[in-house]
Amino acid sequence: MPESTAFDSLIRGDLVLPGGVLRDGYLALAGERIAAIGAGAAAPVKGEAHDFSGRFVLAGAVDGHVHCGSDVGWDGLEGMTRAALTGGTTTAVDMPYDVPETVHSADLFRRKVEKVRALAHMDIALYGTIRKEGGLDAIPELAEAGCAAFKVSTYENSPTRFPRIAHADMRTAFRLIAETGLAVSVHNEDQELVDALIRRFRAEGKTGPEWHEPSRPPLSEWLANAEVFEIAAEAGARVHIAHSATARGFDQAAAYRAQGVRATAETCVQYLVFSNEDMVRIGAKAKVNPPIRPEPERERLWERLKAGLIAFVSTDHAPWRSEKKRAPAIFDNLSGARGIETLMLAFYSEGVAGRGLPIEAMSYYLSEAPARHFGLYPRKGALKVGSDADIVVLDPTPFVFDEAAIPDTVRSSLYHGRRFAGRIAATFVRGRKAFDGERVLVEKGFGRFVRPVSAAA
Ligand SMILES: [Zn+2]
Repeated sequence: MPESTAFDSLIRGDLVLPGGVLRDGYLALAGERIAAIGAGAAAPVKGEAHDFSGRFVLAGAVDGHVHCGSDVGWDGLEGMTRAALTGGTTTAVDMPYDVPETVHSADLFRRKVEKVRALAHMDIALYGTIRKEGGLDAIPELAEAGCAAFKVSTYENSPTRFPRIAHADMRTAFRLIAETGLAVSVHNEDQELVDALIRRFRAEGKTGPEWHEPSRPPLSEWLANAEVFEIAAEAGARVHIAHSATARGFDQAAAYRAQGVRATAETCVQYLVFSNEDMVRIGAKAKVNPPIRPEPERERLWERLKAGLIAFVSTDHAPWRSEKKRAPAIFDNLSGARGIETLMLAFYSEGVAGRGLPIEAMSYYLSEAPARHFGLYPRKGALKVGSDADIVVLDPTPFVFDEAAIPDTVRSSLYHGRRFAGRIAATFVRGRKAFDGERVLVEKGFGRFVRPVSAAA
């Protein structure tokens, strides 16, 4: 082959492809894309040949549920994307619940895109949302501006940053979103039930961490799921539960799908790794909404995943500064925890090493399925010829995770001190080595805004 047609670089290792693992395979890269996939002797390369023999080579994770602007605003993109690379996540879809304002207009959306271009270390797609009242006109213009999905909530944390959308507006919003072809993710908790239980527990002096889960019981999820699936049934929208912490949430979605409703649900990795017993031990640091459920639920979630009922697995990454997690009463602490840097290793350790799930199934739930959901596939989420060369090398050698190593301003992690069954040896973004197992090698501004190429799931 003449020099001019040689590939730019080569990555060798055990390739995790949809049909299984190709041992001693190679990916040949040209520019930012994957140009050839094979095994054995490869064509000549002009640049570096990376030998990762004996290690897994996978598509980078696509984290479909990230909040990095809820505490410090859009500047949170910088640390979040740097930390993501250390965990093998190469694309994230960032939520619109930012301070001081949600992303509820095309103008705000374009300003956030500029922030992505200035601060991100890896690629970012964005959600849009609507204001609590009077904001429905924003839906078509947000879709036009390139948002990957919409997000709304049945539960109100704040009338401005995280509002509840009333039924009449939810109904109209779902009709307008259905016309865009995009999905709408819903935060699924019932306001009336949760608020009443929190009031009762406070009055009874029940404010320890053990009262968080009972204050937001599974029923609060199931009521909200049924409500939004019914509205979707009428509106024809693609409605997606932003996080089901219970197995029954997936059964609800499947029942509605059987009736022709476009209903799906995701879970977050913390619901697959931790139990409420862990949450009570860890305290406010592990306070997330919906809550992590008591122990039997975790295995039921793995059963639903193995049955193919879970759309994909995300993190709900929300890095609150520690002063927002120090209140004596559990109800006065903010909800959310970081997790983008541990998504792949936590799933690998629990699912692949711990429960014998095929590693290609992990790649499906962390990369391909979320990329498809947001219309980013096959540019993202795939080891395919023509896809972006977003590649992760996973070394199946155990290591103990230390939160002090997280390259972000907030380093508090639920996984601190946890032994993972593997470690990330390298992360490539669009062909460039962005993490070498120790250091992040790209600067802020390397990351790009990505918009959906197709709206079909
Ligand atoms: Zn969330």
